[in-house]
Amino acid sequence: MSSETETVEDGEPDPGAELTTGYGSSPGVATGPVKIIEDIEEADRIDEGDVIVTEMTAPDMVPAMKRSAGILTDEGGMTSHAAIVSRELGVPAIVGCGDATDVLRDGQRVTLDGQKGTVVAADAEGEAAEEADPGGSRDVEGGGGPPTTATEVKVNVSIPDAAQRAADTGADGVGLLRLEHILLSTSKTPEKYVADHGEEAFVKEISEEIRKVADAFYPRPVRARTLDAPTDELAELEGGEEEPHEHNPMLGYRGIRRSLQEPEMVKLELRAFKRLHDMGYDNVEVMFPLPNDASDVRRARELMDEVGIDRKQHDWGAMIETPASIRAIDEIIDEGIDFVALGTNDIVQFMLAVDRNNAQVADRFDDFHPTILEAMSEVIEACNENGVDTTITGQSGSHPDMAKFLVEKGITSLSSNIDAVDEVRRVVARAERRLQLDEARKNVDDPGPRLG
Ligand code: PEP
Ligand code: MG
Repeated sequence: MSSETETVEDGEPDPGAELTTGYGSSPGVATGPVKIIEDIEEADRIDEGDVIVTEMTAPDMVPAMKRSAGILTDEGGMTSHAAIVSRELGVPAIVGCGDATDVLRDGQRVTLDGQKGTVVAADAEGEAAEEADPGGSRDVEGGGGPPTTATEVKVNVSIPDAAQRAADTGADGVGLLRLEHILLSTSKTPEKYVADHGEEAFVKEISEEIRKVADAFYPRPVRARTLDAPTDELAELEGGEEEPHEHNPMLGYRGIRRSLQEPEMVKLELRAFKRLHDMGYDNVEVMFPLPNDASDVRRARELMDEVGIDRKQHDWGAMIETPASIRAIDEIIDEGIDFVALGTNDIVQFMLAVDRNNAQVADRFDDFHPTILEAMSEVIEACNENGVDTTITGQSGSHPDMAKFLVEKGITSLSSNIDAVDEVRRVVARAERRLQLDEARKNVDDPGPRLG
């Protein structure tokens, strides 16, 4: 994204000189020495307090990301791996810089601002201009604790190790727990993991990781989603050589379409859910990603039944992420789901034809495009008519204007990033009060027919 950036070839840049810019994707300011990572094998070089500079982060890099002071990537948009994981870890990050690996050099001290998206040269001492704000503990309006809202405000979790931090926000539950980060952190594709360790180990691995989140939130609900990993991410892992090579992995073999083609694999994931239910975790709910129509949802439901998940006792639902699923919302509701989650990262990608991971077109990734707003409104209306819960789990659910819009449309919950929960809650509370006030004023203006 950077246009006029200063290289270090002609000597050290002055402290404060802008070196590159990108999309601020995890708030906070951090200062530290640059470590350029060209290959995942080099991730061990990252020491506590380094600034990782890389083309794009990968699931195996999470331990190094945890150690780092900040993260800069050349590629990726606001919904890329680097953006999602850094937000949860509370590590300031900027994605889509375009040239960070070119213009920065190993050992150079930089200060990055994960809100503004700027990277500047730091002085030798390299004191951070401000302390990094890991989010999660901001003042709330009026003091005395967070406002209680009728619309639930939940939180997204991808890294179970961030569960406690997420739970401490006081969120009403987890709107989306992504299983892919759990599975990908094993460094093996699911198939390879099962081949090496057996089915039982696979079920145990998943159930133990979900359990960390279910424990941190109990009795608040945790919606965990079956695997939705694109083949290009799986290809990076051990066993990845077996993955099909796809030109458009985002449009390819992922989510429910893969699960339905490999039912034995998704049944192992579902067995992990069943195990948790049997252990008494009645707060764990199942969610399926990327269905296109009612038949996708029906077949997923049948697999849950085959595994013995009691749908009367445990809520289940589907992500709405494709234009087809938006049009088929009534039929999908008829399959008996308890909730839908609006996956705007994919809705926007597919409705606007903008690759969510392509920094080149990131400025066209418009969550507020009228088509998107209209589509979401239709889904919420259909669900409300049928008593089905609605939530938003995409990145835009953390945006105050989106929260306000969706509350006005009658959404029943929102799920945000950890660092956005407080602000979203404040916006929701205010939007609800505004709706009540408008209603009260309408009644004063038009008191209706009088009796007697
Ligand atoms: C989404 O698409 O908005 C979503 C929440 O799912 P993911 O980002 O994991 O595709
Ligand atoms: Mg999605």
